[in-house]
Amino acid sequence: MQLIFASNNTNKVKEIQQILPPGIELVSLKDAGILIDIPEPHDSLEANAREKSTTIFQLTGKDCFSEDTGLEVMALGGAPGVRSARYAGEKADPAANTAKLLDVLLNNNDRRARFRTVISLILAGTEYQFEGICTGQISHFPKGNNGFGYDPVFIPDGETRSFGEMSMDEKKIYSHRRKATDQLVSFLAKQII
Ligand code: IMP
Repeated sequence: MQLIFASNNTNKVKEIQQILPPGIELVSLKDAGILIDIPEPHDSLEANAREKSTTIFQLTGKDCFSEDTGLEVMALGGAPGVRSARYAGEKADPAANTAKLLDVLLNNNDRRARFRTVISLILAGTEYQFEGICTGQISHFPKGNNGFGYDPVFIPDGETRSFGEMSMDEKKIYSHRRKATDQLVSFLAKQII
């Protein structure tokens, strides 16, 4: 089956492509010829994910899914959360967001955080959601150049290295996105049988 993935983030496309079984062909927005920036106007990951999948379904009428991810820091009451991409300002880049986070947490010993991914699937016009969580700690300074976004400052539980120091295969062991995608895949497997 073919599924359009409603994201322009090539890192996410690569990560999810690696997880999906051969029977599911991922079609990127670019490959589908859709050149739009989908807005994320809501105050929850669930609503933003739904906005993205619904937008693409309305444009194409095809089965599709989207995902929205946030970094939720315990000492900050769950912030930056849904605002993770814009933490240091509307047009902030990942380095600026990461620098702001380290600055806000300076001298704070409670470094607990989690990545949370919500996937919104639209299959034959009906929406389904799946969640994946990865708990860990925010490091005191960035480590490693792999991955993207907050990866250099996030150390998953059970590891001493940040996601930025791991290969994609190593990140996959812990990844929030992998956990949510696994649920999507097992749901789709049940529909196809
Ligand atoms: P969005 O889901 O594209 O809105 O991403 C929200 C923010 O979290 C962006 O700043 C991303 O770079 C960041 N982000 C999303 N997923 C990950 C991840 O797996 N690792 C590190 N940062 C991420």
